[in-house]
Amino acid sequence: MSKQIPVGVSNRHLHVTQEVLDILFGPGSDLTVYKDLYQKGEFASEQIVEMIGPRGKFSHVRILGKLRNNIQIEVSGTDAYHLGINPPVGKFAPLPEGQSLTIKGPKGSVVVTENVMIARRHIHMNSKDAEELGVKDQDIVFVSPAQEKGDKAESRICILGNVLVRVNDNFLLQMHIDTDEGNAVGLKTGDHVFIVQSSLGYYEDPKAPDKKLITESDVRQAILKKLKIHIKKGMIITPAAQDLGKIHKIFVY
Ligand SMILES: [Zn+2]
Repeated sequence: MSKQIPVGVSNRHLHVTQEVLDILFGPGSDLTVYKDLYQKGEFASEQIVEMIGPRGKFSHVRILGKLRNNIQIEVSGTDAYHLGINPPVGKFAPLPEGQSLTIKGPKGSVVVTENVMIARRHIHMNSKDAEELGVKDQDIVFVSPAQEKGDKAESRICILGNVLVRVNDNFLLQMHIDTDEGNAVGLKTGDHVFIVQSSLGYYEDPKAPDKKLITESDVRQAILKKLKIHIKKGMIITPAAQDLGKIHKIFVY
């Protein structure tokens, strides 16, 4: 099986500037660490605010550190519905005309009309991970949960498409999804996924790398399942498999 990718499920949160923090918590306030997050330098702070929309509100929203140059608010689709706003997916853009969010801290509040989004699912990785996984920055990949959990009725085995790859050498390998996505497909923080299709347009057979002998039957299976077989060092391919594989362009070297 190809390299497994740990999952991190993000709850609604916001990032703030020093200026905004001063308004919400009083001049000269600091973000204090509640819990370090998996990515280096990122942390859940002890600072909690209220998020108030035109329709509903959330009274316990955590600010994530470190401080940023812009206020940034990330909610799920369900959160957005509850709040009564229509933020864009995957990019920070102004909210539709007439919509705003009020962020209220113990000392003051700010009204936000932009920089609110429903996050786009993405995978953080460094360049070594990217090389191993055969992807590059900004690639779009498909992933699937690494193992089936629970009984059949509970399991929500799926393929998540349109996952953005983000490569930076400060990143640790991790896929970020929001609570809607996590709940929909039964993935929790600490679960794993693997890439089943990259933007190169081929499927990877998760069983193939463990095989030593590739037979004609393996090639037929791959053709049926629209999979490619990754040929690794030391694999033996029977002559019949060799011929059939070449005709159908099944082998990836
Ligand atoms: Zn992320």
